[in-house]
Amino acid sequence: MTEQPYLQFEGIAKQFGSFTALKGVDLAIPKGEFVCFLGPSGCGKTTLLRIVAGLETQSAGRIRQAGRDISQLPPAQRDYGIVFQSYALFPNLSAADNVAYGLVNRRSPKAQIRERVTELLGLVGLPGSESRLPAQLSGGQQQRIALARALATSPGLLLLDEPLSALDAIVRVKLRDEIKSLQRRLGVTTVMVTHDQEEALAMADRIVVMNHGAIEQVGTPMQVYREPATAFVADFVGRVNALPATLLAGGGIQLGPSRFEGPHAGPAGRDVTVYLRPEDVLAGPLRPGDSNVFEACIEKIEFLGSYCLVQVASPALGEQRLSVTLSPNFLSEQGLRLGSRLPLRLLPERMRIFA
Ligand code: ATP
Repeated sequence: MTEQPYLQFEGIAKQFGSFTALKGVDLAIPKGEFVCFLGPSGCGKTTLLRIVAGLETQSAGRIRQAGRDISQLPPAQRDYGIVFQSYALFPNLSAADNVAYGLVNRRSPKAQIRERVTELLGLVGLPGSESRLPAQLSGGQQQRIALARALATSPGLLLLDEPLSALDAIVRVKLRDEIKSLQRRLGVTTVMVTHDQEEALAMADRIVVMNHGAIEQVGTPMQVYREPATAFVADFVGRVNALPATLLAGGGIQLGPSRFEGPHAGPAGRDVTVYLRPEDVLAGPLRPGDSNVFEACIEKIEFLGSYCLVQVASPALGEQRLSVTLSPNFLSEQGLRLGSRLPLRLLPERMRIFA
């Protein structure tokens, strides 16, 4: 027996006048899952989240939460907590009063509210900050308070609208780990909107990649990254080499002046683009029988800390340049620098081919 999804979108469409922001989105989210809507600016991800929250009304389609049709309910009658990008705390209320806001609205007993606020502040790593005002808190701390406020009434659904994008890089990474582990601990079904692919890869159980108001792919971070369903996904999530090529008979590909072994991807003669991640171009140790090996010359080295992004050229590739990730250790052990030559191998099984 398959379990009922906790949150279900059926043909959600949205028009703003003559502009179509969402083209009929179908999606099912199981209970307890952490889902990220990921896509470029304007793809409709925020609109979709706002429709779940009842802050925007869909032009067509339905949403069910826990089996209940919530499509027409006002926000106050829906069961969610939400965190926005801009902290959106009440500036004149203390941290405790901000967190307690939803509980006071529900007329919970005072002692119970106080206890719950203490518990929530502990949960988000800010114990003892009851009396502080938002202006006395850093951006990261304000987002923790916003998170505590969103979770106060133990909602069935947590909505996160780019909650980390206003924070600096170090706080962002720290808080994303904390939100993820808190979400796992509480088991609350969570939908987060982000345009940051690294954030989505690090946090989501499943990523919904959106483009122009439609879903391009739904998958685990690993699936979306390693098995992109479309050229758009391959391009948008992670770095990729996009190499114009022509398919040859028997699974070969013509790349510039050379023939390489590739996956069987269609009839010979078809013009395609081969997508290959920089880490799927191997440099040593190569074995004698290896296919797809060619000699390349290093044109550019970008040092990125734990790895280097290296741009190479090769007569085997014609005009085409290739990005390769190499470890700084490998470069120094091999004595490789600008102008150095090295053998490389294109991994045929890692190539994704799109028309
Ligand atoms: P961003 O990350 O930039 O917010 P997004 O993917 O979240 O992008 P949405 O905010 O969902 O995109 O907007 C989708 C499209 O709908 C955009 O082109 C936007 O201009 C348009 N749009 C959003 N809200 C309105 C509105 N109230 N009136 C008219 N057009 C709107």
